[in-house]
Amino acid sequence: MRDFIREMETKAIEGGRLSYDEGCRLMTAEGPDVMDLMSSANRVRIHYYGDRINLCSIVNAKSGACSENCSFCSQSSLHGTDIATYPLMDTDRLKHAAKEAADNNAEAFGLVAAWWGLREGPDLEAMLERIRALAAAGHTRTDASLGIIDTQEIAYKLKEAGLEYYNHNLETARSYFSKICSTHTYEDRLRTIEYCKKAGMGICSGGIFGMGESRDQRVELAVALQDLDVDVVPLNFLHALPDTPLEDQPPLRPMEILKIIAVFRLMLPSKDIMTAGGREVHLRDLQSWMFMAGASHTLVGNYLTTSGRKSEDDLKMIEDLDLKHASSCHEQPLLQVQ
Ligand code: SF4
Repeated sequence: MRDFIREMETKAIEGGRLSYDEGCRLMTAEGPDVMDLMSSANRVRIHYYGDRINLCSIVNAKSGACSENCSFCSQSSLHGTDIATYPLMDTDRLKHAAKEAADNNAEAFGLVAAWWGLREGPDLEAMLERIRALAAAGHTRTDASLGIIDTQEIAYKLKEAGLEYYNHNLETARSYFSKICSTHTYEDRLRTIEYCKKAGMGICSGGIFGMGESRDQRVELAVALQDLDVDVVPLNFLHALPDTPLEDQPPLRPMEILKIIAVFRLMLPSKDIMTAGGREVHLRDLQSWMFMAGASHTLVGNYLTTSGRKSEDDLKMIEDLDLKHASSCHEQPLLQVQ
């Protein structure tokens, strides 16, 4: 396995594309081989990103009462969860949250809304107004995760309002998607990504691990992201929440999580691999290892319905590793939409 891992490292550094079969073989690494895999992923991260770690932050701009039934999510109205629900936050509140994100050294600030997505109408107009205001305030890059986009025209409007990156996770492998959601399809998600790409937005798309999918299905997701040529790849690790259909799903072990990060780094070598939900709760004392496993980006601050840790702790962790975050780094941001 050691020689194979080295061979895959060289291939990734030389710009080659690892195949599904190669990814599946890497996913079988166990014990000391996972350490070798992490070393290789770390070298690939350094090759493409140097010592820089990107940071971003999100706000739950509209919470709960969602019509969709994603089985991992506590914001679905169909699961009977007990979470705070509120309508779309007003512009001033969002501007304040963006300023707070910038103060926490986040370069990008993502608006997230719990709903099916965006059709022409008052929700779209309200969102465009907020995006324009955030882009004009300029505290951070303005990103968003607003669900399914109904038409190409809507994607153009979002871009024109100042939206730079659109987050839309594939969530899991195509072959597993129907197990986690039946109110919309994998194709709906692919179409949204294509609309946003065509409109000129950067694409942030990844998934959630630990929902009962197989290791091979994790690789299947990585191959789909290779095909889509996304820019940022958020990796979430299921934090099973009460009253959701996945509430009894056992958590992934920390070393399994690190292996997933490393395999994604090798399979998507030049992409900005981001750790997101679930890292604190599942990696615990091994959190700083996520960068050694190949992550070049992490989410700071709170998540949508759960709390993250203090951003000072994350900044300190990055500095202690002799890595740099935006405010300690004088280079141009790495994540600019062409
Ligand atoms: S993941 Fe998004 S679309 Fe799915 S239930 Fe949660 S808020 Fe709704």
